[in-house]
Amino acid sequence: MDIMSDKKELQVAALENGTVIDHIPSEKLFTVVSLLDLQHETNNITIGNNFESKKLGKKGIVKIADRFFSEEEISRLAVVAPNIRLNIIRNYEVVEKKQVVLPDELKGIVKCNNPKCITNNEPMLTWFHVIDKEKGLLKCHYCEKEQQIDNIKLL
Ligand SMILES: [Zn+2]
Repeated sequence: MDIMSDKKELQVAALENGTVIDHIPSEKLFTVVSLLDLQHETNNITIGNNFESKKLGKKGIVKIADRFFSEEEISRLAVVAPNIRLNIIRNYEVVEKKQVVLPDELKGIVKCNNPKCITNNEPMLTWFHVIDKEKGLLKCHYCEKEQQIDNIKLL
């Protein structure tokens, strides 16, 4: 076994029960932390960043003990980092792997970039339709302005 694969195993070692969030692009690590509200989490959390990744260059990993995420929470991650993978750990073993999938609709996650949009002028939730998942194209339900997922601002 070479040194690289030894290191890889260390990165995901020793979580008895919980979730490992893997393949987070390094520059998105803290966005993921805030999207999942992990700064208020009281469970044991390990956050690692700037690990080497063939796919991403550099990646971050978050391990959270005794915490499992809902589909809604997971779908929020798709907005910032569609390649994220979640490993569900029970009894030190990966019992399930989840790939983050962009949902058909996003409510209350992304800000509309049209200053005249009603969502920027009234206290209401934003609502976007994902009109092209491949290209990451969103369309505001209210003003119909389209925006690219790479350029979004989170609420
Ligand atoms: Zn709008």
